[in-house]
Amino acid sequence: MGATHTIRITEFQQVINGLRRRGYRCIGPVLRQGVVVYDDLSRGELLPLTVADRQSPGCYRLENVSVPAVFGAHPGYVSWKTFLLPNDVPIVDAVRTSDGFAIRSAVVPPEKYAFIGVRPCDLHAIDTLDQVFAKSPGSVIDYTGRRKKLFVVAVNCTSSADTCFCDAMGTDPEALSGYDLCLTELPDRSDPRFLATIGSAAGKNLLEEVKTESATLPDLQKVRGLLSDTERTMAGKLNFADLKALLYELLDHSHWADTASRCLACGNCTMVCPTCFCTTVADTTDLEGRQAKRQRRWDSCFNLSFTYLHGGCVRPSITARYRHFVLHKVATWIDQFGRPGCVGCGRCITWCPAGIDITAVVGTIRRTAELTGVKKEQGYVFGI
Ligand code: SF4
Ligand code: SF4
Repeated sequence: MGATHTIRITEFQQVINGLRRRGYRCIGPVLRQGVVVYDDLSRGELLPLTVADRQSPGCYRLENVSVPAVFGAHPGYVSWKTFLLPNDVPIVDAVRTSDGFAIRSAVVPPEKYAFIGVRPCDLHAIDTLDQVFAKSPGSVIDYTGRRKKLFVVAVNCTSSADTCFCDAMGTDPEALSGYDLCLTELPDRSDPRFLATIGSAAGKNLLEEVKTESATLPDLQKVRGLLSDTERTMAGKLNFADLKALLYELLDHSHWADTASRCLACGNCTMVCPTCFCTTVADTTDLEGRQAKRQRRWDSCFNLSFTYLHGGCVRPSITARYRHFVLHKVATWIDQFGRPGCVGCGRCITWCPAGIDITAVVGTIRRTAELTGVKKEQGYVFGI
């Protein structure tokens, strides 16, 4: 941890004000249509202070709480990719002219965002997107532009939703890097505060304008206790040990088809996933044929057209598409990028209309393989 201070919740507006003075567009948790989502946050009053969420497969509910908490709600269906890699991004416009047509670039200058309330799993998700879009040879210019200007206020998780499993994916309830400021909520009915940890020179500079106090030893001990309690509540949801090798051996396991028989191929899981980044290019024209637009649009491996090549689709069955989604997240991504593509945020579980739970699916495959002794003799570690 860097230098630590405490901030009263009542002073939090100063953080927003300081960011806005520096030209940032602040994005943070706000309540919209019964869900806490990330959206424009111009005033502290917009923070959802009195609600917490209950999440389970296919289910999201908010309930009122008596102890105020700014970050009482866990990740909702909006992830930070909505801002870093937005949907429907204009690429080029073509406009008819008297002697033909003119092509003009429609790329807009990148916004200067401040993300407020980025959880540790989502910090890992942003780092994963960086690996694909900012650190790869074919880096995507608009992503890189937004990413370079980004200010991150992270928040440590002092509770977990029933769908969270970050501990299994090594993405932890505690933010260790990748932020400018990191907050840990110190809940208290009469005097709610944050512990603030500085992560960069920009974070230090901002905090100097905010009314703070030095953190005490009891504050630090309380935070430690809250973070270990959070980790404990998540334990055992997914056993990631040797999962890649296990799934590669069990591509024909009957549970893929069983799960696919419930899957609607709606693609919700890929839309809400903070690391799913596939896009397509959509061309549209107006009805008079005067103007045409080319846009980059989010796509999903659940769409039949996603793998259409000459002669047909590579993954025509839902079984193949669901298995591809899971394998990419927990196995093939490791071959591509040296790390899993899943950060354990649980969004795909909550927002699946069929209540399909990726941890339950791979857990069932592992358990049945263990019961039937498949590959055990080859040294795979079978557990829960
Ligand atoms: S696969 Fe599911 S749990 Fe994993 S990062 Fe994506 S949405 Fe989160
Ligand atoms: S797993 Fe769930 S969210 Fe994903 S495509 Fe199937 S039904 Fe939709």
